[in-house]
Amino acid sequence: MQEKNLEKIVSWAKRRGFVMPGSEIYGGISGIYDFGPYGVALKNNIKKIWWKTFVEDSDDIVGIESAILMNRKVWQASGHEKGFVDELVECKKCHQRYKADDLPETKCQSGGEHEFTEAKQFNPMFKTHVGVIESDESMTYLRPETAQGMFTNFKQVMETSRKKLPFGIAQIGKSFRNEINTKDFLFRVREFEIAEIEYFVKPGDDEKAFDEWLKSWEEFVLSLGIKKENIKHYEHPKEGLSHYSKRTVDIQYNYPFGYKELTGLANRTDFDLKAHQEASGKDLTYFDEETKEKVLPYVIEPTLGIERLMLAVICDAFEEIQGGRGVDKSDPSTNAQDGIDMSEIVLHLSQSIAPVKIAVLPLVKKLSEKGREIYKDLKTCWGEIEFDESGSIGRRYRRQDEIGTPYCVTIDFEEDRKVTVRNRDTMKQERVDIKELKNHLFEKLGNF
Ligand code: ATP
Repeated sequence: MQEKNLEKIVSWAKRRGFVMPGSEIYGGISGIYDFGPYGVALKNNIKKIWWKTFVEDSDDIVGIESAILMNRKVWQASGHEKGFVDELVECKKCHQRYKADDLPETKCQSGGEHEFTEAKQFNPMFKTHVGVIESDESMTYLRPETAQGMFTNFKQVMETSRKKLPFGIAQIGKSFRNEINTKDFLFRVREFEIAEIEYFVKPGDDEKAFDEWLKSWEEFVLSLGIKKENIKHYEHPKEGLSHYSKRTVDIQYNYPFGYKELTGLANRTDFDLKAHQEASGKDLTYFDEETKEKVLPYVIEPTLGIERLMLAVICDAFEEIQGGRGVDKSDPSTNAQDGIDMSEIVLHLSQSIAPVKIAVLPLVKKLSEKGREIYKDLKTCWGEIEFDESGSIGRRYRRQDEIGTPYCVTIDFEEDRKVTVRNRDTMKQERVDIKELKNHLFEKLGNF
């Protein structure tokens, strides 16, 4: 994995319309990315599967969408205003700034070793004002996480959805952190999406729930096609835990720049509900029918950055084959001009998240009309379908391999009314009767 080259992935992502720097025509804005047509399709597929797995298919988790802007008092009570700080150091020679817990392994660009200043505290929340007057009273922050919206709505959501403990609240939403140093592409950005669940349990049930969540959180990551050998757990040492956490375990992924946090699981105890209860004066307790007592639930929080997950699935799926893997050279439409012998990229994405599921490719122009008919018909079952009639068939296969399309349907029939279905990973080709095509693809793809 280490030899997977991040620069190549960054340039592929831009070239193929997955991810590009934000505001690029003005020179960009650091740590901000835009998602192109394939990128947003991949991202939406990941979010859809997450939502289906944890909200729709679950009996005890409900979804919400809380606002990005919240009353500043929320951030004071949660401890973010005072305690959400990064340690900032600066090299006295090259003036680059770094997070003190993430120092570079490389030498200083002015020569020799870096010489760092003492660490200063830096709060990465973006400030903004609500209303026309810019004063201390109107100031608040862009949220750096989605969790607080689940805590402030806890009682209301529990009552309206008539849930009893244990139950969870889930949401996916934009979060913002003015990171000291943005690097490593989508790994550390300033605007990103978090998918997280606050799972409320009775005090005492928290440790068991934590272990169960660790298992299902890992299963979810693996279900998107990430290889098990590329992830590992990192148990935070007691002395390094965040102010609210009793236990934290990260699932790390083996990115091209080393094993780093992909997702985290924390036992937040009753820290947040207690803090909001005290600060707001509102009763946030749960009435336990069994003991006839009011309790403040404990919270297990599985949290996941969608961009970090996207980068992990891309890195895991990305294969560059030097010299190409040999498109069927007996195919008369592929020839030397196709550059078949140059290196070739294949994105082995899990078909559930692939931005395009099927590409319909008429072999020659005179089959275009028939091809379009088939394309339209297939599109009624699977939305994510492409039609491509330009260039040789070898080139078109490669284009689809590069964006991770699991199946190509080549319209190449003469008399036999059969088409060719080609598998991205094995390059195996099967002749399938048009009448059977939908069933054939359905067996392979299901109806995503
Ligand atoms: P790190 O230590 O890497 O800064 P963190 O521990 O501060 O991360 P959390 O506060 O646990 O991260 O955030 C929840 C999730 O949001 C993380 O597991 C990660 O997937 C994602 N995340 C956090 N910061 C960023 C960022 N700057 N860019 C992209 N994703 C992020």
